[in-house]
Amino acid sequence: MVGRLVLPGEYLGTEEEFIAGTGTYEEDGRVYSSNVGDVEVGSDYRIRVKGKEESVVVQPGDEIIGVITEINEPLVIVAGEYLIKTGKVYVIKTRALVHASRITGHYLDQCSKVLKARDVVRGKVVSTRGKIDLTLEPPDEGVLYAFCSKCRKPLQRINSGLYCTYCQKNETRKVSNKYGEISEGLIKNADRQQRK
Ligand SMILES: [Zn+2]
Repeated sequence: MVGRLVLPGEYLGTEEEFIAGTGTYEEDGRVYSSNVGDVEVGSDYRIRVKGKEESVVVQPGDEIIGVITEINEPLVIVAGEYLIKTGKVYVIKTRALVHASRITGHYLDQCSKVLKARDVVRGKVVSTRGKIDLTLEPPDEGVLYAFCSKCRKPLQRINSGLYCTYCQKNETRKVSNKYGEISEGLIKNADRQQRK
């Protein structure tokens, strides 16, 4: 645990084990990270998550994980929250765009057929000239986590599609191979966005 990189919302331990310090919060007797950073535990059992201070430049080939805030055909607007660069995760706050031509690899007349606002997506940076453009075409890129458009509960991946077990309804998305492989932290953040 100590020295490990954690993301916001990640479970760190119980209140019996640790005292919640800087960069953490306590909820129902459990301590969670509220930061992106490395875990430190003091001799007083105070647990802290120290943020990464490196400033990081977004470059083509990096990957961004974020939440779709808006679909303004033919563009999808993503609030980028994490940057993956050579296997390391950094917290960022950036806006990125996905064009309809860079989603499925096929002609797509409407982004909203395969993406919805509030989906969590992973995209690869193709250009950073003036704005950040992402592609969702590679198998690892696309929707990482999505909610049912009717009941708002998380969708389960079944083969290449998504399914709501409550409504017994299929939904179509450009799903990433890594669907569901997402830190608890990101899910919690996405949930928070849901409730707003
Ligand atoms: Zn549903």
